Amino acid sequence: MGSIGPYSDAGGAFNPFKGYFNSIDGTLRPTKETRHGTNPATLETLPEVPVATEKEDQAAVSAGQRAFKSWSQKPWSTRRDAVLSFADAIETHAQGLAELLTMEQGKPTSLATGEVSYTLNWMRGMAKIEFIDEMRTTKQGFKVIIRYVPLGLTVGILPWNYPVAQLCQKMLQAVLTGNTIIIKPSPFTPYCGLKLGELAQRCFPPGVVQVLSGDNLLGPMLTGHPDIKKISFTGSTATGKHIMQNAAKTLKRVTLELGGNDPAIVCKDVDVDVVAPQIASLAFYNSGQVCLAIKRVYVHASIYDSFKSVVVRHVNGLKVGNGREDGVALGPVQNQMQYDKVSGFLSAAEKEGWTVVAGGVSTKQPGTGYFIQPAVIDRPPDDSSIVTEEPFGPIMPLLAWTDKDDVISRANDTPMGLGASVWSKNLDEARSIAEKLEAGSVWLNAHLALDVSVPFGGHKESGIGCEGGIEGLKAFCNIQSLYLSS
Ligand code: NAD
Repeated sequence: MGSIGPYSDAGGAFNPFKGYFNSIDGTLRPTKETRHGTNPATLETLPEVPVATEKEDQAAVSAGQRAFKSWSQKPWSTRRDAVLSFADAIETHAQGLAELLTMEQGKPTSLATGEVSYTLNWMRGMAKIEFIDEMRTTKQGFKVIIRYVPLGLTVGILPWNYPVAQLCQKMLQAVLTGNTIIIKPSPFTPYCGLKLGELAQRCFPPGVVQVLSGDNLLGPMLTGHPDIKKISFTGSTATGKHIMQNAAKTLKRVTLELGGNDPAIVCKDVDVDVVAPQIASLAFYNSGQVCLAIKRVYVHASIYDSFKSVVVRHVNGLKVGNGREDGVALGPVQNQMQYDKVSGFLSAAEKEGWTVVAGGVSTKQPGTGYFIQPAVIDRPPDDSSIVTEEPFGPIMPLLAWTDKDDVISRANDTPMGLGASVWSKNLDEARSIAEKLEAGSVWLNAHLALDVSVPFGGHKESGIGCEGGIEGLKAFCNIQSLYLSS
């Protein structure tokens, strides 16, 4: 274990469906206490996973610090080759990992396979980025090298919607730039993370990539540890604020990828039959459990009725069910907490008298999973919770607009600023709206289309910093300006 070289299965048979351990200092370690996840489609109990305590936390921190000393000195090419060998290892076991992903997260097989292949493309694309020091000359005659030096031992904390992609993104940006990393998967979806940790031990030296599974105590333990230099966190805005507070004690660097409430503004010139199904699909992708899903749709009043009827027809045709079954477009929501949250919006619809024009029905029976038919709410008030809050589930409000400045200010009337989109055949008009939207990623006639070369991050309370592109690599570095005397 722990050698750098082309990936092979020499470390022993790898079985995604059995044996879940923390990866600490190049070895797979059980813990005294264990816990388990739940398959959200069947409510079956999944296998036991470790619960890391202070003992494991400290062991991983010590190993990560030790490993940093030599890993940070390795040339870029060595680090890149290790990352590429890890990508090969994932590819070798892609099918098993995708099945495990459906089992723990609930997403349909096609989305799980898509997440694994997206991850591979992302890793291989990032590994190609040329990340070199910059040279400048000062008026006083110094040649200055702007060096990007690694921070040290870092931590990645993950949510439960993209357990494979998010782990690999954080890990790759950390280790390519010479850092070491401890990853903490979400307690709701620890399985793929632990198996990726196991594979990583075959591709990286001990202590470079470690994975710890735990309960709610583990996150604060890691973010409060004085020897950790950076926290890269993806999750809710509320947790992001706690993390920033904890990190402030030792001025840890933070990247926070947080919640969103993305608006889509639809202009009157769109082809309704094409755009309405596209927008509905983007809103309900992964059962709406995407930070960058469309969460509010503002449709020009002149096409509102026809847009609504195409959306309703499309949504009523989406099959909800166990992600392992053929033809399923929406799996269950991932956990009881999320199910209760979305159900809360559906109860509010009844109580507040919002018009539900599609879905909105829970099909949960005793012994079945967290299934919710995708719901469309027709013009709820702008100050209703379904418009102002992020449901992170299969429920979407449709709203009407007539005045351009007014719709821009309604779209921006939120503490969130993750993504947004404008849909129109008139690209100049669409761009003039897009440039006024307060969000980190804004698309014309698309949404959720990410690329490895482009940074991704939130404005306002949707986050701090970014991931992806050269900017994502820089976020794992300190800058050192080295003045050379002539
Ligand atoms: P969450 O904030 O509840 O949990 C995320 C992670 O933080 C989990 O691993 C959890 O164990 C850990 N955690 C919880 N409290 C902690 C603490 N005090 N200190 C340290 N760690 C702690 O979020 P979630 O429910 O898992 O994910 C859903 C949220 O994530 C949504 O709001 C969604 O928009 C957001 N999200 C954002 C992005 C993005 O890139 N911006 C991507 C995916 C999800």
